Amino acid sequence: MPSPREALHTTFGYHDFRGRQADVIDRVMAGVHTLAVMPTGAGKSLTYQIPALCRPGTGLVVSPLIALMHDQVRSAEAAGICAAALTSADSDRDATIRRLHAGELDLLYVAPERANTDGFRRLIDRIPLALIAIDEAHCVSEWGHDFRPDYRQLRSLLDAHAAVPRLALTATADRHTRADILAQLGIPEDGLILAGFDRPNIRYGIAPRDGLPSQLAQLARDTPGPGIVYAPSRAETEKLAAALAVAVGRPTRAYHAGLDPAVRQANARAFVDSEDMVMVATVAFGMGIDKPDVRFVAHAGIPKSIEAYYQETGRAGRDGDPAVAQLFWGAEDFARARRRIETEVEDSRRGGERARLNALANLVEAPGCRRAILLRHFGEEPAPACGNCDNCLSPPSTTDATELARKLLSAAFRTEMRFGITHLTDVLAGRETDKVLSSGHHRLSVFGIADAAELKLIKPVARALMARDALRADDFGGLSFGPAAKSILKGEEPVAVPLPAARERKRRDRAPGGEADDPLFEALRACRRELAKERGVPPYVIFHDATLREMAALRPQTQRTLGEISGVGARKLEDYGAAFLAVVRDFAG
Ligand code: ADP
Ligand code: ZN
Repeated sequence: MPSPREALHTTFGYHDFRGRQADVIDRVMAGVHTLAVMPTGAGKSLTYQIPALCRPGTGLVVSPLIALMHDQVRSAEAAGICAAALTSADSDRDATIRRLHAGELDLLYVAPERANTDGFRRLIDRIPLALIAIDEAHCVSEWGHDFRPDYRQLRSLLDAHAAVPRLALTATADRHTRADILAQLGIPEDGLILAGFDRPNIRYGIAPRDGLPSQLAQLARDTPGPGIVYAPSRAETEKLAAALAVAVGRPTRAYHAGLDPAVRQANARAFVDSEDMVMVATVAFGMGIDKPDVRFVAHAGIPKSIEAYYQETGRAGRDGDPAVAQLFWGAEDFARARRRIETEVEDSRRGGERARLNALANLVEAPGCRRAILLRHFGEEPAPACGNCDNCLSPPSTTDATELARKLLSAAFRTEMRFGITHLTDVLAGRETDKVLSSGHHRLSVFGIADAAELKLIKPVARALMARDALRADDFGGLSFGPAAKSILKGEEPVAVPLPAARERKRRDRAPGGEADDPLFEALRACRRELAKERGVPPYVIFHDATLREMAALRPQTQRTLGEISGVGARKLEDYGAAFLAVVRDFAG
């Protein structure tokens, strides 16, 4: 049996373990139960794949989705690992069972429903098991957001194999959920390995919506490679997808629960296989998406919470290459969310939901480092500036708008809190419109008290007041006071807003994929595309971009030097080495 480090080199072709991978693997190798909470892209799969290769017996992996299992099996097989999934969608079940009994399988993937059946339990009764991995382990907890009762019943299977190390894995688990996973799966408290939440390769950016389709088109032009745009509704996904297809000239598709299942599946499949598709989707497009080379995730409106934001943006850049997370928001997003809380949420949950929304408002409004806010939200103590978010890269100039905020609140108050922002602006500007005259608002003390410079800031100020719940919009846009209005009106709370002009970004240096001009890299990509098509797998299963980039830089001439490149394991060297060497050679000659 190889040592974990040997397996890392030979099978995966990687030079070093990442983050806490080695700690997790050491524990499993020592045969002790473990819960690993590591962010997306940290390389959780390796932490069960390697012990499965390095301990006697088969590694059993419980995984919630067939699509995820198939992705995993495909990637494992490409690296030369003997892996199979046992699901209703697999026609080779008899062969898999035969291979399992013959001791040929390094890894067997199974869904919790099947794992809990008597038939399956008998099947693995006499099979030596290297470990039992429970992927997406937060599904075991009612505190988690994806509770699955079948996960809870896994305990008896685990206890039937008490001596086999169990490894629970998840990217998202707050303190409650973690404690619950430990208790439910019988893992000791000191078995928790908690990696940090930071995703340093993701560049966060947040901006007000201002011509959304062209903002998204700009992002898609600046950021080559696959991207996801999350839109708030089904209709919106289709509308934006159509607009982007025309504006960007990249393959663009939509994904939402209302599509015919066959279309939906075909679109998801096409995205996974693609190197440049933009997918406009509702958040239904999520958990099954294990694509490592997603270069941007954009939000067309606010997500549900910071947790949701972190999870959704986390789908970008799992391969560790630079990626972008861009959120576009509007005051009406907050207005709608607040209305929902007040009208649809039961009393007992209202306080919590308000707090969640306020945390989100703070994230979008704050002039400081986005990453620092995110990480602090998850209980970490990050550096005050990350250098890789919009506010760090081009600090917004803000201006004190406390006076204007007070004027706007007074105007809302004096007009009996029934009017929207357009009318209030007319009143503050001193415009004698029909509506102003007919309601007698030209006689109010607030009529005409804002000057031209202030009028330019009314929109950002209204946005800030709505985000903080000082102003609330009713169904018709009428603005009334929220709980935060009083202290601002009294001048006790300052209000600062970003200066609109200063927010204009200098053309972003083409972030990821800037190597697109290197002809050798392009030739290697073409070779990868061809091989991928031939074998019926997505290109990233062959090699990641980072591996191709290293090839383009080092121009290896021999199998040996090619094999030293990160990501080139023994099996891939054998399978694809000659093809890529030929590309490098043709290029030199
Ligand atoms: P997670 O499940 O934690 O989101 P994955 O297991 O899918 O992450 O791994 C993300 C990517 O990182 C994979 O493509 C994997 O091949 C790569 N990877 C994992 N470990 C390493 C490592 N030690 N060195 C380089 N790349 C790695
Ligand atoms: Zn920052």
